[in-house]
Amino acid sequence: MRIVLLGAPGSGKGTQAKLLVDKYKIPQISTGDLLRAAVAARTELGRKAKAVMEAGQLVSDDIVLGIIQERLAKPDAKGGFILDGFPRNIPQAQALDAMLARLGQPLQLALLVDVDDAVLMKRLTGRRNCGSCGAIYNIYFSPPRTPGKCDHCGGILQHRSDDNEETVGNRLKVYHEQTSPLVSYYKAQGKLRTVRGVGSIAEIFRNICTVIESQIRPLAAVMGQIGASLAAKAKAAKAKKAAAKPVSAVKAKPKKAVKKKAKKKAVKKKTKKKAAKKAVKKVTRKAKARKPAKKTKAKKGKKAKKTK
Ligand SMILES: [Zn+2]
Repeated sequence: MRIVLLGAPGSGKGTQAKLLVDKYKIPQISTGDLLRAAVAARTELGRKAKAVMEAGQLVSDDIVLGIIQERLAKPDAKGGFILDGFPRNIPQAQALDAMLARLGQPLQLALLVDVDDAVLMKRLTGRRNCGSCGAIYNIYFSPPRTPGKCDHCGGILQHRSDDNEETVGNRLKVYHEQTSPLVSYYKAQGKLRTVRGVGSIAEIFRNICTVIESQIRPLAAVMGQIGASLAAKAKAAKAKKAAAKPVSAVKAKPKKAVKKKAKKKAVKKKTKKKAAKKAVKKVTRKAKARKPAKKTKAKKGKKAKKTK
């Protein structure tokens, strides 16, 4: 299951990604985390990224893609991945597609967690944190019993300075500018599905799982059916061959036996002959049970064989 998650800040896609990780046992690949990890681990790409960042520049797509590719090679990503925070634009999406195509692991789904801007605004500007115990509130959706005071410890609730309407408005504007081309890109590929990111976390997650099952599972099921029907056909063909063998053995035996005589060991041949005789018996028994008309013929054949 290979998924790209799209969603605005405040859409709750991070929470949903964690639930998906738990349910489907695939890693969430967040490029920010990966970059930090690569820098900390001093991998070759990590050292390159560090140099670029220290120079105050953005890490190039090549480096980010290289780090993603390294991450995808780890065993836990064998069953798929959830990509979060990448791609952010069309060139990145194209480069990602090219890389995944080389790996033979194309994206299956681009999942957009969609929330109206008015709701996002309230979610982001309404956030309050307790300065003492870290409890999180939202003055619109989950307010404390006493305004400005923590329910748990009575601590003073704090408002992050960048959670104001202007800053949040700008972040949302940037998000839409970046994401709408991506939405079109994945829509054109037939890979885009949208889930409304409102309601309870569990409710949204159920909707996401429904989308995943309907987008990815049918394909897997079809592949499974094809596999099963091929296996059934192979089995039927084998059974047919096995059923036909004694008959052909009766007819072809003398010729084949003569030809093989020189090559095969005497012991092997004897056992083969025995098996063939047994098979003949089986066939005649079957013929007896099914078609009484052929009974005498089969018997005659058997007798003839015996007298030989
Ligand atoms: Zn508190």
